[in-house]
Amino acid sequence: MNFEIGSARVSDTMGQSEREFGRENLLTNQWASVRAKLQQEVGDVEYRTWLKQVSLAGQDGDELTLMLPTRFLRDWVSKEYGALITSIWQTENASIRRVDIRTQPARGTAPNLAEPTSNPVAPARPEARADVIAPLDQRFTFDTFVVGKPNEFAYACARRVAEAPATQGFNPLFLYGGVGLGKTHLMHAIAWELSNAPMQGSAQGLAQGKPVSVAYMSAEKFMYRFINALRNQSTLEFKNELRSVDVLMIDDLQFLIGKDNTQEEFFHTFNALVDAGKQIVISADKSPSDLSGLEDRLRTRLGCGMVADLHATTFELRISILEAKAIRAGVDVPAKVMEFLAHKITSNVRELEGALNRLVAHANLFDRQITLETAHEVLHDVLKAFDRRVTIQEIQKKVAEHWNIKISEMSSARRSRNIARPRQVAMYLAKQLTSKSLPDIGRNFGDRDHTTVMHAVSRVTALMGTDAAFAEDVELLRRMLES
Ligand code: ADP
Ligand code: MG
Repeated sequence: MNFEIGSARVSDTMGQSEREFGRENLLTNQWASVRAKLQQEVGDVEYRTWLKQVSLAGQDGDELTLMLPTRFLRDWVSKEYGALITSIWQTENASIRRVDIRTQPARGTAPNLAEPTSNPVAPARPEARADVIAPLDQRFTFDTFVVGKPNEFAYACARRVAEAPATQGFNPLFLYGGVGLGKTHLMHAIAWELSNAPMQGSAQGLAQGKPVSVAYMSAEKFMYRFINALRNQSTLEFKNELRSVDVLMIDDLQFLIGKDNTQEEFFHTFNALVDAGKQIVISADKSPSDLSGLEDRLRTRLGCGMVADLHATTFELRISILEAKAIRAGVDVPAKVMEFLAHKITSNVRELEGALNRLVAHANLFDRQITLETAHEVLHDVLKAFDRRVTIQEIQKKVAEHWNIKISEMSSARRSRNIARPRQVAMYLAKQLTSKSLPDIGRNFGDRDHTTVMHAVSRVTALMGTDAAFAEDVELLRRMLES
């Protein structure tokens, strides 16, 4: 199960439980100390996300009882932090043998429930929202998303939904694309934007001026929650919780394939929300029509709003992303190093980011400048994985196939553009993907001179900068050759 951590939208509930147990001064003091240690142990973000809502109920003999407002939180905290909490308690109070974590009994008013908005004057909602909302990553905002040709359409659609959810034509918004291209980032960005701003849009189902409640979760988590609800005979609660949100976002929908019951449930939730004029945002690795194994009626509904794809990154976008990340991290990364990374790591942004982070960490640790040499050194093992042995012959074959010319034309003397251009691309890719020298490459293309290869490389690079369709062709070829 993949739980993302990073939200701070969990309200403080400590004051109340402390007052209630004020007479048990000693225990309260110990609890304060346990909390401080927990926070130190797991870090601020995790603490705020999961543990801040834990309250002390009391001690009975050697058993200590803690409370959490919802079943989901209780299960999660017990599973992930139970042992840690117990051991910290035991160092604080040796008489405690067992720590029991329970769900808070329901109250008339519900001050302990996580409020899905940062607006402090908003009235608390009666439902337990902490169950529905997965924490959002604070880094994933529109500000930090770098826009380029391959993602500008998806970005524009996401912006549009964040400004005016449930607008006709944009509901559902279906974002799709390969791994690490920014789907989750855009979804979180929408969620942040919406939960920080009162409703502006004119959508029928959403009340003007009220904070918007957003539920974001992965399809896996949706399934996990649904199965749990079935097991605990609380499907009605589950349905009601989901149907009470203004915006429902399900990430990585492809995980529902083959899970018929869950798909069925999702389909009904989907319909209920759309009928009520609420916004749905979905991501998946493929378009609705390519997601085989999805029920037809669901596929049809998924495709009837806005479908936007995130294309593979181009060299230019990778450079822009690296620049933005370097500025954000406040480090000076030479242009040569960025170019090196953007050439070598083409598959996805997450890996590109990871490589940059490693360079930065290394530079900090050893108090050294980032240079091309340190990049080679630090990323040695990472790059090895990307450095597959592609041969010039393979490149020529793929490129010739792509533009429908004979492979022999790669070595021929013909100079008409429909032949010369693919040949230049093949030379360019040979330079990028192999370790062959320019003269070596020239020899493989009908014994051409190394200056011809040089010219081809600069010509292709320039064209990629001005012709997006061409750039995408080249990137596609590169990825095919790399995989
Ligand atoms: P996906 O959900 O499509 O697999 P993510 O949204 O998790 O991909 O993106 C992977 C990583 O790359 C994240 O850290 C994200 O911030 C970063 N990333 C992806 N695209 C961009 C972009 N255009 N600008 C900035 N960061 C990006
Ligand atoms: Mg994702």
